[in-house]
Amino acid sequence: MPGSSDSPAPPAHAFPDLVDVDALLATGWKPYPFQQFILKIHSRCDLACRHCYVYEMADQSWRSQPRRMSDAIAERAIQRIAEHAEQHKLPAIEVILHGGEPLLAGPELISRLVRGVRSAVGAGTRVDVNLQTNGVRLDRSFLELMRSLEIRVGVSLDGDAEAHDRHRRFATGKGSHALVSESLRRLTAGPYHQLFSGLLCTVDIRNDPLRTYEALLEFDPPTVDFLLPHGNWAEPPPFLDPASATTPYADWLIPIFDRWYGSPVMHTEVRMFREIMRLLMGSPSRAETVGLSPVRMVVIETDGSIEQSDILKSAYQGAARTRLHVLTDPLDRAMLHPSIVARQIGVDALSPLCRDCDLLSSCGGGLYAHRFHPRTGFATPSVYCRDLYRLITHIADRCARDMATIRGTA
Ligand code: SF4
Repeated sequence: MPGSSDSPAPPAHAFPDLVDVDALLATGWKPYPFQQFILKIHSRCDLACRHCYVYEMADQSWRSQPRRMSDAIAERAIQRIAEHAEQHKLPAIEVILHGGEPLLAGPELISRLVRGVRSAVGAGTRVDVNLQTNGVRLDRSFLELMRSLEIRVGVSLDGDAEAHDRHRRFATGKGSHALVSESLRRLTAGPYHQLFSGLLCTVDIRNDPLRTYEALLEFDPPTVDFLLPHGNWAEPPPFLDPASATTPYADWLIPIFDRWYGSPVMHTEVRMFREIMRLLMGSPSRAETVGLSPVRMVVIETDGSIEQSDILKSAYQGAARTRLHVLTDPLDRAMLHPSIVARQIGVDALSPLCRDCDLLSSCGGGLYAHRFHPRTGFATPSVYCRDLYRLITHIADRCARDMATIRGTA
């Protein structure tokens, strides 16, 4: 049974710094160019959420970041993205404006970056732009800006007022649900609805799952992303005892899956469930939370540092760092950085336990950051292993029953 970190000796690439890229290249392996560029345009936030992995977990590097990306760094980031797209003849790229809270960067920087990337890449590259916001400042003037620049907007919402305000509060302690709901009503009404990309909901198992799901549906989101709170074997997620046989997160998600899957009308796309179903049918995953697809995303920090996914900041100080910088390094250099390569080698990066698991191809060891163990590094099953196993098995059983009914073999 999976769910233990007591695996045999970890492979050589258990820790990203140990990945031997030259040896991999010598075997004929090729890195995948980046498709997704996350720009940290402002490093601070106007909320003080208690579950925030950027400010409240192991890595505290945000403290030394400038508050806002400078125009000089923005210009160089634009050039680096365009250069990478041109070098690899990418037909489409995605730019994600992120923070901290990206709206704090102001309309001029947002506009400069979006127009800059679109005009710098060649005519053969489509540029999709998304912005992920806490929704507090999403007023009509920002919405007009998003509309004029064709930026799609994702908003973080944890459920109804009680659920959302449990964590998503201002520094004064006041909850943000009322303000975020107002912004969501503006975003989802009339001319702006097409900009709405979906809701990001961080799971807190103290909230009622179905009430949470229904509170999200009130805003008619095209997609819902349920985000498991970040943690690892050194610092387990809240209410999860990795040594026990309990599966509190699967127990929380399964009623939502049953409601979503059993609904006669498709109210929204729940990304985690859809990706698991795709993987069970043999398709590659499109999300880094499950599956073995190579991660093709890079982060440009507010100061111009080129980094790994900031989710890794939940593991340990410096986990996302590459020591590369847009002023001195092309993104092709990042593509060959051991910590990036470690996330592109699929099954070779996994623990022996994951490689022997019957859910290997559908789970893929779970989110990279959740695998971290101080002794076995990232070559460890996810700290959510038992929850993932139970959730995926439940989804597989439910789908298999339906297929059997359709075929008349049930
Ligand atoms: S593949 Fe997933 S379910 Fe299987 S052992 Fe690894 S983390 Fe656990």
